[in-house]
Amino acid sequence: MTVPATPFLPFALPEIGDEEIAEVVDTLKSGWVTTGPKAKRFEAAFTEFLGDASLESIAVNSATAGLHLALEALGIGPGDEVITTTHTFTATAEVVRYLGADVVLVDVDPDTLCIAPWAIEEAITPRTKAIIPVHYAGLAADMPAILAIAKKHGLKVVEDAAHALPTLSAGKLVGTLDSDITVFSFYANKTMTTGEGGMIVTRHPELARRMKVMRLHGMSRDAFDRFTATVPSWYYEIVAPGFKYNLTDIAAALGLQQLKRIDGFQKRRVELADALDAGLAGLPLILPPRAPAGGQHSWHLYVVRLTDDAKVSRDQFIERLFAQGIGVSVHYIPLHLQPYWRDRYKLTPQQFPHSQRAFERMVSLPLYTRMTDADVARVCAAVRAALAA
Ligand SMILES: *Cc1c(COP(=O)(O)O)cnc(C)c1O
Repeated sequence: MTVPATPFLPFALPEIGDEEIAEVVDTLKSGWVTTGPKAKRFEAAFTEFLGDASLESIAVNSATAGLHLALEALGIGPGDEVITTTHTFTATAEVVRYLGADVVLVDVDPDTLCIAPWAIEEAITPRTKAIIPVHYAGLAADMPAILAIAKKHGLKVVEDAAHALPTLSAGKLVGTLDSDITVFSFYANKTMTTGEGGMIVTRHPELARRMKVMRLHGMSRDAFDRFTATVPSWYYEIVAPGFKYNLTDIAAALGLQQLKRIDGFQKRRVELADALDAGLAGLPLILPPRAPAGGQHSWHLYVVRLTDDAKVSRDQFIERLFAQGIGVSVHYIPLHLQPYWRDRYKLTPQQFPHSQRAFERMVSLPLYTRMTDADVARVCAAVRAALAA
């Protein structure tokens, strides 16, 4: 058992400041701790941040919940197929199974590790209903190509934007593109956090209405209206067996203050990524791809891949970084290697050569706003030492 050097540099840490703490305390003292005025304000602020008043933002208690609500509202069900990438977290795909539909996993673009448009086209069948692209690491998937494929084949598009705040695709913020629904995550390690939480964004009022009803038990009025309406209002109707996916005001309080800092966080992440790139130059590593013209990388993750010239295996590399007190991770163990997905769909690595090859060589290095320049230098030195034969 390797004992890591101290102090240990964690793989990820949230940045929570005095403003966030004060806003949460204000909520705790207000007497309203579940979904209420702050969740509403957070939704309005999110739409304002995206800068498109035709969008509606719907706060939920996780991105997983948001993806489930999105597919439910689009009518995905048994007999349907939904295409997504094998190179993602299981949440992206599991929501399809919640609804009894089938997941069709496809390979990635070897440069960006985002879902490959050509692989989507090859996987379309008469049962295909939707595509879920993932903006891997914070770089936008090829949305112009994906939206064109969806249009040509009459498919819905739900963006898994868990990594993509704030990400630009061809000059537009992810969340404002021409997909049907976009879902962001505020999990602890994402570019902003509410502890647990997510935001659904759509410009389709009928989808928004359905997702809001299903977010809270299939109730036709939400708790805020019911408990704070000026006229006595005890009446509600249950129109479907809905879910319990609402975001608390405690979490929304965190979100309100984190959202104010998101552009500053992104700028710091760019600085850190630039410093990592400079410090890792000349090593047997493929460094992360840069955003193309008109793009912007959110830098949720900084993923390097060992080249054939590297003298160590991926697992040895991780072990050596750990021994030097550097927390790292792997994003992701592709779904085609996970027992449930592999066995259910009889998947083999040969079907996903780009994802498989990337997985065998990839490591996610620490990149978060609380890192100092000295932390970056320490990571680069540790990587250099780990790669020395
Ligand atoms: C984090 C993440 C999710 C799930 O987000 P939660 O808010 O934890 O439910 C989904 N997809 C991807 C790609 C993620 O990284």
